[in-house]
Amino acid sequence: MADIIQLLPDHVANQIAAGEVVQRPASVVKELLENAIDANASVIKLIIKDAGKTLVQVIDNGKGMSTTDARLSFERHATSKIRTADDLFHLNTKGFRGEALASIAAIAHVELKTKQENDEVGNSIVIEGSTIVSQEVVVTPKGTSISVKNLFFNIPARRNFLKSNTVELRHVFDEFHRVALAHPSISFAMYNNGSEAFNLPISNYRQRIVNIFGNKTNEKLVPVEEDTEVLKISGFVGKPEYAKKTRGEQYFFVNDRFIKSPYLNHAISSAFEGLLKSGNHPSYFLNLTVNPETIDINIHPTKTEIKFDDEHTLYALLRSAVKHSLGQFNIAPVLDFERDANLDTPYHFNNKETSTPVIEVDRSFNPFKESYASGKQTTSVKKQTSNNWDSLYVGLESKGTKTENDFSEVHFESEETTISAFADVNKIEQTKTTYQLHNKYIVSTIKSGMLVIDQHRAHQRILYEDFLKNLTIKEGVSQQLLFPLELHFSSQEIQIISQLQEDLEHTGFVFSNVSDETIEITGVPVSVPESEVSIILEQLISDVENEVPDTHFSATDLLAKSMAKSLAIKKGQSLLKDEQEHLVNKLFACKEPNVSPTNRTTFIIMSVDELDKKFI
Ligand code: ADP
Ligand code: MG
Repeated sequence: MADIIQLLPDHVANQIAAGEVVQRPASVVKELLENAIDANASVIKLIIKDAGKTLVQVIDNGKGMSTTDARLSFERHATSKIRTADDLFHLNTKGFRGEALASIAAIAHVELKTKQENDEVGNSIVIEGSTIVSQEVVVTPKGTSISVKNLFFNIPARRNFLKSNTVELRHVFDEFHRVALAHPSISFAMYNNGSEAFNLPISNYRQRIVNIFGNKTNEKLVPVEEDTEVLKISGFVGKPEYAKKTRGEQYFFVNDRFIKSPYLNHAISSAFEGLLKSGNHPSYFLNLTVNPETIDINIHPTKTEIKFDDEHTLYALLRSAVKHSLGQFNIAPVLDFERDANLDTPYHFNNKETSTPVIEVDRSFNPFKESYASGKQTTSVKKQTSNNWDSLYVGLESKGTKTENDFSEVHFESEETTISAFADVNKIEQTKTTYQLHNKYIVSTIKSGMLVIDQHRAHQRILYEDFLKNLTIKEGVSQQLLFPLELHFSSQEIQIISQLQEDLEHTGFVFSNVSDETIEITGVPVSVPESEVSIILEQLISDVENEVPDTHFSATDLLAKSMAKSLAIKKGQSLLKDEQEHLVNKLFACKEPNVSPTNRTTFIIMSVDELDKKFI
């Protein structure tokens, strides 16, 4: 039989290689940014159109390429970064496989302009689907600009396989963040569809993180530093109280290269053990420096997974370094030197002389004198009752259950108890019917037996129905804030908030400004304490990121769920008798009292029969 094996033509081989290297526009972003870094650029610009589907362009001020190199750079296995196999173990560049440009040129329209520092003019090459369309001399600044247009133009199946612009853009942002985080000593800018998305000046590591993720990130960071013979660790972990449900901000860099490592991630999680609520993930930005000879980067085409010689030691070192930092942070008292002491004094006491308190004694007071005694006592009893109601009000406020209705109801009941002669007796009987168990459950008696309510879930249900009502009738009552509240978010987070702005306004939020990184709030729903606002919005953002709502209905539903979750009374919170009762009454006034908004059981009933059986 005749021989049937043939060598594949280059352009076919390149397309096959592209399948591994270029999965989506974000892969192109990664390769081009890394090439610019390897070229020792100090300023790098990334330009994106249509989430990179139409254009990905990277402009750098690096060392540029000679005329021959410019042509050769598109050949497969053409690299200036290694020469021998041995070099693979002393890598200090991002690239070394020499296949990125060849792969990209096989599946897109590529335009390269490049000039070396001492050359008068530079070169321009246009290449489409591995075919050179033109090569000419051009006037261009020092450095390199590569535009990649119409990705997958010749592989429709791959192009159709791309996700929506929102999803692809998210991947692009992710890659950009990874590269920018690893190189704070390089200035980066990113433009998305003609507008500036990021402008990151040269800075220290902390500032770089803050510039990317927003100013509020600053207060969340705990430094981690460790220097041993095998491993140097530097960077930050997020304070446990800021941990999120999403795995969003988790970054490992090994010798300035972003890597994914479930194993090392586990080391961090275990260092956080006991500090996080279940389901929350710590954030971290950690740079590990190891001897290049002890790692193998060549195990994955995109080079995001690497093999360490001695993983166990790294695990142990990383875990103890993070633990140590968290420990220090917990022990060290937080002193706020910038706090203005005047803020702690009520306004009318400001700038007033202190005066010695005067003690007044009622010398005519005779405890045995009848009228006096009874008179005083009644007032004191009354006072106590009203104090109780006050404290109920305060308690509810801090837990966020206070709505105008609640408050009037509360007042009504309290007045009733003081007016009626039998009120006190009634009240005792009433309050006897609920009991809080382990600050988690409310136990109450009903005709058929015993009712056990999960306080957290029940409250979620109550708040959820309230919010949903306000959202649908668009009538959330809002309370004006004395001073506008300014909150900082990353631009991605701001995008999510602005998508939900209208719905948020229906719940009672009033936004006076939503800009690039800051939002200003002048009003909040009556049920929302000011101190909770940022927590609610963060929770909301993370919920949206986890469960991108497609329809308007699910967006409002998600918002109501998320806010109910943030504001509901937590497990471990002790409740006054009145609050317990109130919760029970409110729950059974709900449309679907038996399940939480996330479909979990809110209460169980144990019948007298069942109890009887237990006593046989
Ligand atoms: P690799 O980065 O693995 O070497 P690439 O295909 O990404 O492979 O690039 C091929 C070669 O082209 C590089 O080795 C480098 O010499 C050159 N090159 C690519 N991009 C740039 C750039 N922005 N500036 C200077 N040289 C570049
Ligand atoms: Mg490269």
